[in-house]
This record gives sequence, C-alpha cells and structure tokens, in this order.
Amino acid sequence: MPLLERHARQRRRAAGGGLSDAPQVLIAGAGPTGLAAALFLVRAGIRVRIVDGAPAPTRTSKALGVNPRTLSLLEETGVTARIVAEGQSIRRLRVNRRGRPLATLAPDWARLGADRPMTILPQARTEALLAEALATLGVAVERGLGVATIEQDAVGVAATLTDGGTARTPVLFAADGAHSTVRKALGLDFPGDAWPEPWRLMDVDLEGPPTDEGWVDLRPDGPLICLPFSGRTFRLITFGADPLSALSADWRVGEVRWSSEFRVSHRVAERLNVGRICLGGDAAHIHSPMGARGMNLGIEDAFVFAACAADFLKGEPARLDDYGRLRHAVDAKVVNGVRSVTSMIRASSPAADLARRLLLPVAARLPFVIDRALRVGMGLDHPVRVR
Ligand SMILES: Cc1cc2nc3c(=O)[nH]c(=O)nc-3n(C[C@H](O)[C@H](O)[C@H](O)COP(=O)(O)OP(=O)(O)OC[C@H]3O[C@@H](n4cnc5c(N)ncnc54)[C@H](O)[C@@H]3O)c2cc1C
Repeated sequence: MPLLERHARQRRRAAGGGLSDAPQVLIAGAGPTGLAAALFLVRAGIRVRIVDGAPAPTRTSKALGVNPRTLSLLEETGVTARIVAEGQSIRRLRVNRRGRPLATLAPDWARLGADRPMTILPQARTEALLAEALATLGVAVERGLGVATIEQDAVGVAATLTDGGTARTPVLFAADGAHSTVRKALGLDFPGDAWPEPWRLMDVDLEGPPTDEGWVDLRPDGPLICLPFSGRTFRLITFGADPLSALSADWRVGEVRWSSEFRVSHRVAERLNVGRICLGGDAAHIHSPMGARGMNLGIEDAFVFAACAADFLKGEPARLDDYGRLRHAVDAKVVNGVRSVTSMIRASSPAADLARRLLLPVAARLPFVIDRALRVGMGLDHPVRVR
C-alpha cells in the first residue's frame, strides 16, 4: 500500500486523540543546520522531530569559525553565550607571502556591524551546545534513524525511516548533508564544479605562534591557512606540500590531534524547496572552507526556514516558496563569492603570484577593500531577510 494511503488510514484511526501532539516539522539530519532549525522552530512554538542516520554525534572539529552573524542569530537561544565562553576570539588576521608579512588586519568589529569578533570553536562542540539547548526545551535527537524515502501530496509529506517505520509530517526540512538523500529523492540537480587536488587539514599543537590571530601564507605550491583554537592547538589547511614543512623553524611542533583530506566542490541545489520539503545547509550548497561560511550559512538557512515554516504552519501558504527564493539567491551569491576568492588564492602561476605580491599590500591599505573582505568573512555581507 502506498505510503501516503497508509498514513491517511493511520490518521483516520488516530482521529480525536494524539494528533495535536504530532510533530509539525520533521528534520532529517542533526548537524549544525538541523539542530539550529529545531531550536529556532521550537522557540517559535512549532513541534519538531529530528532524526539523524548516524548512531552518534560527530567528534571531529570540522568547521571552526563561528562568525558574528551566527552569534547574533543564536543570541536569544542562549547558545551564543556558551560558544563565546568556551571559544577563542580572533583579534587579528595576517596575510604572508612565502613566510614574509604582506598585510595585517586588526578589525574594528563594532564599526563593521558585528557585536563580537569571530569565535573559534570545534564544530563538535558547537553541535553539542545546540543539542543541549534543544534538550532543555524537551527535544532529543533520534540517532541511528535516517530518512530513506519520501512522498508528498497536497497536505503533507510521508517518509520511510531506516528502521522500517514511517513518519507523516506537514513539513520536512532536509539538513542531511552534502550527499542528501532527500535532495536525490526529489531529483534535484546539484550543479557546479569539483577541483581535483586534495586539500589537507591538520589539527596540531604548536609552541610559537600567537593564539589570537589567524593567518594565510601565500606559497608557490598553494596557500597555507592557520587558525588557532583550543589552547595551543592550531588548524592548518593547505593543498600544497606537508603543512608542517611550511611552518616557521622557530616553532615547536607537538601532537597531531586530527588530520584529514578533502576535495573542494562548489555547488548549489537548483531549488531549495519543492512543495512542503525544504533543503538547508550542505544539502543545499557546498564550497571551499575559505571564509568559514559552510556551517554558518547552514545556520542562517535554519533561521530563515524556521521563520518561514512557522508562518506556513499558521496559514500563510506562500512562505515555503519564500524560503526557497530568499535563500537560493543568498546561498548562490555566497558560493560564487567564495569560489572567486579561493580561485585567486589557489592560482599558482608566476603571474598570479606576482599579482598577489603587487596588489595585496596596496589593497590591504584601502579601508573599503578591507571592510568588504572582512564583511564577507564575518557573514555580514548581506542582511538576513525572512521576507
Ligand atoms: C573535514 C572538514 C572540514 C571542514 N572545515 C570547515 C571549516 O573550517 N569551516 C566551515 O565553515 N566549514 C567547514 N566544513 C564544512 C562544515 O563542516 C559543513 O558546512 C557543516 O557541517 C554543514 O552542516 P549541515 O548540518 O548542513 O550538514 P552536516 O554537518 O553534514 O550534517 C548532516 C547530518 O545529516 C545526517 N544524515 C545524513 N543522511 C541522513 C538521512 N538520510 N537521514 C537523516 N540524517 C542523515 C548525518 O549523519 C549528519 O549528522 C568542513 C567539513 C569537513 C568534512
């Protein structure tokens, strides 16, 4: 029997009892996007159910930068205070070329419109703080339970779950990551491109570099990015040679806590909503880590989705389409912008190296260029519109 018909029967059977407690939004995926969406929705008075295919939360650091935009969106949930208390603020950003300083940026955060500086916290901790805030509102993530298939009609969405059960919901939010089952089930295209070279990522203890500044070193074999987090542990990202070989000889290298390789793609789903199903976070867009936008953009999607879905459930039928329209425009612009900046830094030809050597020191003295670059990195390059 088709899923929707089975659910219609269940609904008729349950009529009169229990349905008022039924979740109004089913969230697939409890990464930062899904967790933030659940938190924003519950605070708006919407009942949610959140499931995640993985048996346990992620333990890896992945996204480190929680940008000022995210901190302001999460302010009222109480999570911001905890991120700031636990994280580490970035005070300065340096640009070097082959180890020599080209420019130092010490942002005036308030003038840029930020209440706080960029805060560094491993993604696993950000997710744990979001999940704890959600738990205090009575919602626990159901782990080891993925969304397997979906069907929708005019009045709702029916999903089969990986344990063989089914779930009927008025609205489904797909925050199920870059390989999104829901995006594929909807047959949505994920256009864009993939770069062939492997990027290396390492979390390593270092004695020597300052713990309140990040830097990028433009090297002939590719950029080396370094961000401090958690005491004397630093995140190194490069697609050049071994990242440790590019560090200053004056620094002492300690324990390597985590290392990984990944390939960079830039893609945006062709649409962010189909009927009652919306996509957010990596399910909807992926790009290079340059600018630390991935997790932050997903949390922004979650904020706008929650506002639109709450209105939809209160009787404004066009609001899920609003979500798709508003966020597709913003997400596509951010992905294109990040791709351009990463391409410029990644280019390794002598001409590109010369252009960087000549242009960057000049650009670093032009306040409007610096402000623009910082606003992009801080997530303050566009207003977060919910209408
Ligand atoms: C190695 C690495 C380093 C990174 N570094 C940075 C960085 O420095 N800065 C930055 O901004 N970003 C970084 N990112 C990207 C960042 O981690 C992502 O942008 C962010 O995790 C996106 O959050 P999300 O919630 O949308 O998706 P995810 O974090 O991918 O979460 C998706 C969740 O959905 C679950 N799921 C999958 N399929 C299903 C299903 N069918 N049903 C239910 N649940 C399902 C998964 O188990 C997962 O928990 C990095 C990513 C990686 C892999």
